[in-house]
Amino acid sequence: MTVRVRYAPSPTGHYQHVGGIRTALFNYIFAKRNNGKFFIRIEDTDQKRYNDNAVSDLIDSLVWLGLDWDEGPSESDLIDLGVSQAYAQVYGKKCEQSYVQSKRNDKYYKYAHDLIELGYAYPVFSDDSIEESEPDKVEARQKMNVYRWRMATPFMSRKAMATGQPYHIRLRMPREDDYIVCRDYLRGDVKFNYRKLYDPVLLKTPVDGVAIPSYHLAHVVDDHLMNTTHVLRGEEWLSSLPYHKYLFDCFGWDAPIYVHLPVILNPTGKGKMSKRETRSGTGEAVPVFLNQYKNNGFLPEAMINFMSLIGWNPGNNNEIFSLDDILELFSLDRINRTGAKWDIRKLKNMNNHYIRHMPLDRFVMEAERFI
Ligand code: GLU
Repeated sequence: MTVRVRYAPSPTGHYQHVGGIRTALFNYIFAKRNNGKFFIRIEDTDQKRYNDNAVSDLIDSLVWLGLDWDEGPSESDLIDLGVSQAYAQVYGKKCEQSYVQSKRNDKYYKYAHDLIELGYAYPVFSDDSIEESEPDKVEARQKMNVYRWRMATPFMSRKAMATGQPYHIRLRMPREDDYIVCRDYLRGDVKFNYRKLYDPVLLKTPVDGVAIPSYHLAHVVDDHLMNTTHVLRGEEWLSSLPYHKYLFDCFGWDAPIYVHLPVILNPTGKGKMSKRETRSGTGEAVPVFLNQYKNNGFLPEAMINFMSLIGWNPGNNNEIFSLDDILELFSLDRINRTGAKWDIRKLKNMNNHYIRHMPLDRFVMEAERFI
């Protein structure tokens, strides 16, 4: 089996958060360690929050770190996503399929409707009278409407679909007093009570004739069609795993092996690393975006060394590792389950180490970036 892993960011923020980049790094390392393939997929299903700068910053970040990818958006896809022509020419990939979700809507549409045919999903039509009801009753009435369509017979649903009225599609999760058992590589079997799960949206109501998939549907379809063997992603996705596992089961597809990486904690060790800005124990502002480190004299090798140790341990007390060392030592079994803090002091020390050991010509080159 050839290992195939992906980094699948949603281009909603301006810049790559270090949490996302740590995920990219672990996927890259795992792919290289196993002579596998590492690919990039742009999960731009949330068009409202789409950020024009996001993909350019993603490419800049990966290129700066030296994490090259085997498959990903084509030159024209990159240009459409706002990447400069010069960069798109160099970093666009020639692949058989698009790695940008907004270019794959026909696939999601088809698979969502296949699930309706199989009885695993159902269409929900809006009920205009809901909006007219008292504001505090809107939510309850919307829920009732969803329930009504969940209970509709296939004949009723088909008949309503034939009228051409817009609808969204939801997954019909089992409603039983039972548990769905999902497997995470690091945690073993994780059980979720069906009663605590809801029916997630798979395909949203069309806007201007285009039905956009939800993240849940799109990434499951893509991980299947792109033959993803392992999914290394942040722990915050663990609670969505039952929906993903259930979707794979409904389609009759093998799910990839899931490895939920431990959360990165703020430098103080308290709470998940903030999205926009954070502070060290002494109150000093600590950057959360990779490009802030890049623009402030940090070296890619220091970032790689430091980030690889956030959630992974090499099994010895050494702290300084080149990417080659890490590739030699890396194994999933050495990924920890507990969160690890973004220890900015340690990162600075590592960076100093790499600066001190840098050949003079490289030092001059790096210094020129700041003149
Ligand atoms: N698009 C998701 C994100 O922004 C990817 C989650 C996953 O890897 O499944 O993190």
